[in-house]
Amino acid sequence: MDNFFTYTVVAGDNLWTIGQRFGTTMEAIMALNGLTSTLIHPGQVLRIPSEAPAGEFFYYTIVPGDNLWTLGQRFGTTMDAIMRLNGLTSTLIHPGQVIKIPGETPPTDGHFNYTVVAGDNLWTIGQRFGTTMEAIMELNGLTSTLIHPGQVLKIPGRDITPPPPPPPPPPPPVRRTIVIDAGHGGTDPGAVVGSRREADDNLRLALAVQRLLEGQGQNIIMTRSTDVFIPLLERSNISNRNNADMFVSIHRNAATNAAANGVENYIFTNTPQRTVQNAFNVLDELVDAGVQRNHGVLRANFSVLRHTVAPAMLLEVGFMTNARDNQLFDQNFNAYAAAIARGIMDSLVETPPVGYFFYDVAPGETLGIIAQRFGTTPDAVMQLNKLPNTSIRAGQVLRIPTVGTTTQNIGGAPESSWPARGLLALGMLGKLRL
Ligand SMILES: [Zn+2]
Repeated sequence: MDNFFTYTVVAGDNLWTIGQRFGTTMEAIMALNGLTSTLIHPGQVLRIPSEAPAGEFFYYTIVPGDNLWTLGQRFGTTMDAIMRLNGLTSTLIHPGQVIKIPGETPPTDGHFNYTVVAGDNLWTIGQRFGTTMEAIMELNGLTSTLIHPGQVLKIPGRDITPPPPPPPPPPPPVRRTIVIDAGHGGTDPGAVVGSRREADDNLRLALAVQRLLEGQGQNIIMTRSTDVFIPLLERSNISNRNNADMFVSIHRNAATNAAANGVENYIFTNTPQRTVQNAFNVLDELVDAGVQRNHGVLRANFSVLRHTVAPAMLLEVGFMTNARDNQLFDQNFNAYAAAIARGIMDSLVETPPVGYFFYDVAPGETLGIIAQRFGTTPDAVMQLNKLPNTSIRAGQVLRIPTVGTTTQNIGGAPESSWPARGLLALGMLGKLRL
C-alpha cells in the first residue's frame, strides 16, 4: 500500500470504527501496521490506508460548534456534498470526529481552530504548530497563559487543517490492577438452560478477558478461576483488599420470556462520573462486536457494585434463555472477550466526556421529553448511545449531546442557539444526580 496517512488513536476508538470512519477495513489497517492483535490504545499512531489519491478531498477534525452547514459554507462546498463523500445518513457530527471535505486543498483564512487537550500549554502548542505563545495569545485576545482542556483556540497559520502532530513517543505502559469477577460458580450455577450453566459461560469469558489484559501488561486478579462458590461480599473484599483500580463482573441474563434478548451494563445507584464513563467504554465495544440489542447503562443496587470501592460494573452478556443470544455468545466469543478487554484498556486513563454529558432517566420520562429538554433529538440521543429504538427506562444513564448539530439547525442560523455548555451543565446539575 503506497498511499496512507497517520492517525493518532483516541479513547473510544477501535480498529473497526477507525476503518469505518476512513473508508477502509480493520484487516487493511492491521496489515499495513503489522498488527497481530486488534488491541490498540489511546496515543498509538496508526497508518491508515488511503483509498484515493490526495487532492480530491482533505481531512478535517470537528471542533465544538461546527455543523455540516457551516463547514460547507466555510470550505466552499455544501452540506450534501460532505454527507455524500462521507457516506453520512444523518447530519449528526461530534467533536473529535474526522470527516472528509471535498476540495483540493484547505482554503486559507489565516488561522485554524485547535481544541486544547489535557497536558497542553501555550508554549507546546506554539512549538507544535510552528508559531509562538505570544502570537496565539494575541490572536485569541488572551491576557493570561492559563488554558484548559476543551478550550478552542485560534492558531495562526495557513492551513485550516492542523498538521498531524509529530508521532508521540510510545506512551508509558499504564499498569493497573483490575479485578475480573466471573459471576456465580460451584453450588451456585446461576441461570441454567438445558445443559448450559451461566457460571460456566461467565468463567470462560472472564478467563479469555484475563488472558488478553495480561497480554497488555495489566495486573489481573480473578475472584475465581475455577468452578467454585465465592460469596458476594468476598468478591468485593478481594477487590478492596488489593486496592484494585477497576472491578468488572461478568454475567449472563435470564428471563421467563424466551424472547427477551440483548446486553446491558450495570453500575451502582450513585457513582463518580468516571465509573459511568468506564461502563460506556466497555458496553460500546461489546455492542460494536455484534449483539442483538443494546439496553444501555443501567443503575442497580447490586451487592458487588455496592460493596466494591473501585469503579465497578456488572455486564450482562446476553440472555441464557434466548437461543439467538446463546448463538451470538458462542460465535462472537473471541470478539466479545476482545471488546471487553478493549473497553477496559480505554478506561485505564480517565478521559472526561467531550461533546456530551450523562443524564439519569427518571420515572415517567420518555426519550422525546428528554431530547426536547436539552435541545436535541431522540435520533441524536439514540445514535450517541448506540440504542436501537426510543425505549428507555428509569435508572438508565444516557449520554446527551451538548453540541447543536441536530437536523433542526442545519440550513438555518449558522450559529448554534445553544446556551454556553458550561451554563447548561450547571443549570441542570440538580437533576443529573451524578
Ligand atoms: Zn448472573
